[in-house]
Amino acid sequence: MTISPEREAALLASVPTGLLINGQWRDAASGRTMEVHDPATGEVLLSIADGGSEDALAALDSAAAAQAGWARTAPRVRAEILRKAFELVTARAEDFALLMTLEMGKPLAEARGEVAYGAEFLRWYSEETVRDYGRYLTSPEGKNKILVQRKPVGPCLLITPWNFPLAMATRKVGPAIAAGCTMVLKPAKLTPLTSQLFAATMMEAGLPAGVLNVVSGSSAAAISAPILADSRLRKVSFTGSTEVGKRLMKDATDNVLRTSMELGGNAPFIVFADADLDKAVDGAMAAKMRNMGEACTAANRFLVQESIAAEFTAKFAVKMGALATGRGTEAGAQVGPMIDEKARAGIHTLVTAAVDAGATVLAGGAPVEGPGWFYQPTVLANVPNDADILGQEIFGPVAPVTTFTDEDDAARIANATEYGLASYLYSRDFSRLLRMSEKLEFGMVGFNAGVISNAAAPFGGVKHSGLGREGGAEGIAEYTTTQYIGIADPYEV
Ligand code: NAP
Repeated sequence: MTISPEREAALLASVPTGLLINGQWRDAASGRTMEVHDPATGEVLLSIADGGSEDALAALDSAAAAQAGWARTAPRVRAEILRKAFELVTARAEDFALLMTLEMGKPLAEARGEVAYGAEFLRWYSEETVRDYGRYLTSPEGKNKILVQRKPVGPCLLITPWNFPLAMATRKVGPAIAAGCTMVLKPAKLTPLTSQLFAATMMEAGLPAGVLNVVSGSSAAAISAPILADSRLRKVSFTGSTEVGKRLMKDATDNVLRTSMELGGNAPFIVFADADLDKAVDGAMAAKMRNMGEACTAANRFLVQESIAAEFTAKFAVKMGALATGRGTEAGAQVGPMIDEKARAGIHTLVTAAVDAGATVLAGGAPVEGPGWFYQPTVLANVPNDADILGQEIFGPVAPVTTFTDEDDAARIANATEYGLASYLYSRDFSRLLRMSEKLEFGMVGFNAGVISNAAAPFGGVKHSGLGREGGAEGIAEYTTTQYIGIADPYEV
C-alpha cells in the first residue's frame, strides 16, 4: 500500500530537530540549520540543527562528565535499558522503516528488514552486558595470582554512514552502552533523521543524560576534528569509506586512540559448477540487490565457473531485468533511488567504461529518466578482468560477471583487490568451502548464503576493509580495555 503524504508529514513532525547534548535537545551554537532531502524526489523533508565544532566539544564535555558514573552503573541496569530500547524500536518499527525510506530511499520492505536487524544489536548486547567476563589464575610458577578485568575504554566518537541509518548506529551504540562507555554519535549528513529518532527512543528507554550525545552537521570534519584532538576521547569507531577511514586513523594517532574501522568492500560472489544454480541465482539477487547494491557487503564481482557461466548469467539477467524501480513508499517498488546525483553518475561512468572495454549489457545499463536518482538494475557479461568496475566499489544495482577455471583461479581473482570484507561461495561441496575459506583473504564468507549480516556474528574486514569487528562477543571487546592485576603469593603475606 502506498504511504499517504499525511502519514509522512506526521512522522516527520515527530522527529527531534536539535542536537542531543547532555540529555537536552538544543539548537546549534551557530544557530544554523541544514536541510535533509528525499533522494526519490529531491524535495526537502526536514531542516535540523547544523552542529559545528563548538557543539562537538559541548557533546564531548557531556560524554566525559557522564563517563565515571556510567561505568559504575550496574551491568543489569545497562542491560535493561538496552532491552527496553529493543522493545521500543520494535514497537515503532513502522516509523523507523518509513523514516529510513524517506531519507535514504530504500523500499519499505527493505527498511523493515533493517529495523529488525538494527534492533537485534540492542537485544544481543543487552544479553552480553551481564556476561563481560574477566579471568583469575595462578601464575605458571605457582606463586603469584593473575587477575584480569575488562573496563570500559572511555568516551567514544561514533561516526556512521548513510546507507544503513539505523543498523550502523545500533551496531556501535549497543556494545558501547553494554561496555559502559559514553559517546558522541555523528550520523551521515544525508540521513541524520533516523539517528535523531533513535536517540529520542534511547532517552525514553531510560538512558541517563550525557551517555549518548548526537551531533549532526554539514561539515563532518568540523565536528570530528576537535573531538579527535581532545585527550578525553579514548576511542573512535567509524563506518564508511576506506578513504575517510584512513584519514581518521591518521587523525587518531596523536591521542593514540583505539580505532574500529568498518570500511569499503569489493565482494566476490563465486559460483562453482556443482552449485544449485537456481539457489545461486537467488543468492546473487540478495547479495547484489540488498539496499540497491549500496552496501559494503554487496556482491561487487560475480565469478562463475566457465562451464555454467552462460546459463547462470542468463537466468540472473532475467531476474534483474524484471525488478521495478520506484519511490520506496510506493506499493510495488523493489528498487529505490541512489543516494544522490554524484553517486548515480559514478555508477554510470563505471558501466560505460566496462562496455567500452568489451562488456555486454544483458539487462539495464542506464539511469532511469525522471525525478530522483534511479538506476536500472544491470547485468554485464564478458567483463574484462582489468575493467575498473571489478576493482572499485560500485555501490549500485550493477552486476559484472566474469569467469574462472578452478579453485586456485577463483581464489586468485577474488583476492586481487585491496579490500577484504565479505565474500560469497556457492557449491554443494563442504570440503571445498573449507579449502576456499583458507585461501580467501576476506573477513567474512557466505556459504550458499547471499545475506550474512547478523548481530550475533563478528562482522568486519581485513586489508583495506578495516580493523575490528562489530556484532557477536567480539563487538563488546572493541569498547573495553584490559587491566591486569598481579597479586603476590597469598601464602607469603
Ligand atoms: P563516507 O563518505 O566515508 O562517510 C561516512 C561517515 O564519515 C559520514 O558520517 C561522513 O559525514 C563522515 N565523514 C566524511 N568525511 C569525514 C571527515 N573528513 N572527518 C570525519 N568524518 C567524515 O562514506 P559513506 O558514503 O557515508 O558510506 C559509504 C561507504 O561506507 C562505502 O565505502 C561502504 O562500503 C562503507 N560501509 C562500510 C560498512 C562496513 O561495515 N564495513 C558498512 C556500511 C558502509 P558526512 O555525511 O557529513 O560527510
